[in-house]
Amino acid sequence: MRLILLGPPGAGKGTQSHFIKERYNIPQISTGDMLRQAVQDDTEIGRKAKFIMETGGLVPDDVIIELVQERIHKTDCEHGFLLDGFPRTLAQAKALSLTNISFDHVIEIDLDDEIIVKRLSGRWVHPASGRSYHVENNPPRKPFKDDFTGEPLVQRDDDQEVTIRKRLSVYRTQTQPVASYYLSMAAADKTNTLKFFKIDGSQPPLVIFEKIAQELE
Ligand code: ADP
Ligand code: ADP
Repeated sequence: MRLILLGPPGAGKGTQSHFIKERYNIPQISTGDMLRQAVQDDTEIGRKAKFIMETGGLVPDDVIIELVQERIHKTDCEHGFLLDGFPRTLAQAKALSLTNISFDHVIEIDLDDEIIVKRLSGRWVHPASGRSYHVENNPPRKPFKDDFTGEPLVQRDDDQEVTIRKRLSVYRTQTQPVASYYLSMAAADKTNTLKFFKIDGSQPPLVIFEKIAQELE
């Protein structure tokens, strides 16, 4: 199974990706997590991406396309994978189409801007695994500690209101057209291989997941 998860920052892509990855046993490819790792490792890509990420912009298409191309050709992707946070521009979506890798599902999680701001302001993450928690909606068992490893949780530098609003505006202008691109592609697909599914992200995490699972099965 190959799928793409779209949605504004804070819609719950990471949360759903973890459920999907566990149930369907496919790798989750999160470009945000890959870039944060590159920043931490101080690689060339990390140095290029750091300031852009902190200020809520998008890392240049050529950098990100190369990163994803390399990742999806690794052996663990042979039986499928899940893209979380890519493609985020039409140029990225078109580059992905050029690889001739076919996708089964594009899932768009939708959410209102004001809920997003509340969610991201309360998000705490476990950097090593990408697991995310929320102080009120989804608290860890022990305060500010990851449930599985007990390691400390951190807040992301870009989860501050001014940067969140910038990321939302970037999403609406640059990434929303990607959803329309796949919606049209799914509508034109006579073989019905590619299915497009939009879901309301304001429901509880497990309710969303069960609806996604119904769509996938
Ligand atoms: P969120 O979970 O809030 O949607 P991500 O973790 O996916 O955010 O991404 C964090 C940041 O990493 C983005 O704001 C952007 O700067 C950069 N980034 C991630 N994926 C991409 C991409 N596909 N294209 C360009 N920039 C990206
Ligand atoms: P994204 O990857 O799209 O940026 P996350 O999965 O990291 O989003 O979720 C953003 C924040 O909202 C996290 O703090 C997470 O725990 C919380 N969250 C995720 N899904 C839901 C939901 N359905 N209802 C309430 N809070 C949620």
